[in-house]
Amino acid sequence: MPANLLTRRLDTPAESLTSEPMTRVYDVMIVGGGIVGLVCACSLRGSGLRVAVIEAQTAQQSANRQRAYAFSPVSAGILRGLGLWDIVGPQLTHFQRVKLSDADYSKALTFRPEDGRSQGRSKNKLAEAVYYSAEHTVLMLALQTAVQAAPEIDYWCESQLIDTDKAPEQVDSADKKGLHQVTIEREKERYRLTTRLLVGADGARSEVRSRAQIKTFGWKYWQSCITAVLEPEQPHHNTAYEKFWPSGPFAILPLPHNRCQIVWTAPHAEAKALLALPKEQFLQVLQARYGSDMGDLKLVNEPMMFPVQLMQSQQYVQAGIALIGDAAHCCHPVGGQGLNMGIRDAAALAEVIHSAAQTGEDFSRLSVLKRYERWRKTENWFTLSLTDFLNRAFSNRFLPLVIARRTGIWLLDSIGPLKRLVLQLMTGFFGRLPDKMK
Ligand SMILES: Cc1cc2nc3c(=O)[nH]c(=O)nc-3n(C[C@H](O)[C@H](O)[C@H](O)COP(=O)(O)OP(=O)(O)OC[C@H]3O[C@@H](n4cnc5c(N)ncnc54)[C@H](O)[C@@H]3O)c2cc1C
Repeated sequence: MPANLLTRRLDTPAESLTSEPMTRVYDVMIVGGGIVGLVCACSLRGSGLRVAVIEAQTAQQSANRQRAYAFSPVSAGILRGLGLWDIVGPQLTHFQRVKLSDADYSKALTFRPEDGRSQGRSKNKLAEAVYYSAEHTVLMLALQTAVQAAPEIDYWCESQLIDTDKAPEQVDSADKKGLHQVTIEREKERYRLTTRLLVGADGARSEVRSRAQIKTFGWKYWQSCITAVLEPEQPHHNTAYEKFWPSGPFAILPLPHNRCQIVWTAPHAEAKALLALPKEQFLQVLQARYGSDMGDLKLVNEPMMFPVQLMQSQQYVQAGIALIGDAAHCCHPVGGQGLNMGIRDAAALAEVIHSAAQTGEDFSRLSVLKRYERWRKTENWFTLSLTDFLNRAFSNRFLPLVIARRTGIWLLDSIGPLKRLVLQLMTGFFGRLPDKMK
């Protein structure tokens, strides 16, 4: 991305610490310009509020992550609402089938777009695919372009949040002048900015969350996760797989140009040993998990390993502070829910802020921000519990559980309304939808 585009919004930067009083006052400052932070910023376009996005990396670095996400129809609907679907939609893979199976048991639970047709709110428009896969770079470039083009958004790249002057407990929720003074470091220069609302979209190790002293609940899993992009010999036919092996779930996401991304969960020692294997051997073990439907496999990139955790912040909000995305919660990658939850958080928070601002309410007050917390925290608890349950129920060889889950797969595949219900849970149509989606 050209450098002039990155700095275009910063042609009149806020006062640096070496100069006289600061003048740049924002209504909303979003720390973290990942997908979730940028969705939040884009959702605030047209609200009349002045918004800053503070991102530690360059725009190019933050867009260049080699990862694809299972992307839900609700997230797709939010992108439609933001006017980005015409750019993003054609670059995603539209799953025509999603197959869930228990290890090598031949019976699979298969979802097709028509299985969701009677999902009241998803009628017609979103029945074109069961789910999608979206590459990080595709989503980020569309969002970055939209943010760059918005006159009310300042996009601070290579800028790191290093201090907030006012401890959150000192911000009186009744005090309409309760402003955060935030110190940002950019190219070795420090800037002081002021904001009414500080939004933490800065990922699992959120600086905003730790400065606000918000505690978290959760645990690290006994598994790690390996991702890699492959090119199979045969066409993938836009079919996604989630195969539950005793060591952990193994997902195959079809990508454009007949590539596939695997998300392979295994106990730490096994995952580490897999990554240490010479490529030929790695591919042999992988082929056994993957199956032979798509013929021989070729590695397109270097496999990478990630830790896996469940985390839920005890609070999503304080007076003048809100957390969204991985800053608020993290989950096991089974079912591909993490980013989708974050996108719904971002749209929900923007909607709460926007509605309050329209009626002249102070959106940084705790009582207003609690509306966002009530909306999202319980729904996210539900998804975190579901992913935890799926991982534990399937990642074992305990015979009664093996029989129960194989019977369950058979039943779910045979009973239409049950299958629809599971699809609703997986696609995020369960719960309150943001207006952007409607
Ligand atoms: C292996 C794996 C597979 C996954 N697959 C899926 C999937 O299929 N579907 C799905 O929905 N989810 C999936 N997830 C989860 C998903 O990746 C995350 O939920 C999502 O990326 C979180 O986005 P975010 O914007 O909240 O945080 P991040 O992507 O972590 O972005 C945070 C941003 O904040 C910036 N930042 C951090 N600290 C500061 C600071 N102090 N100042 C300024 N900027 C800062 C960072 O540079 C970064 O750009 C997967 C996760 C893993 C590990």
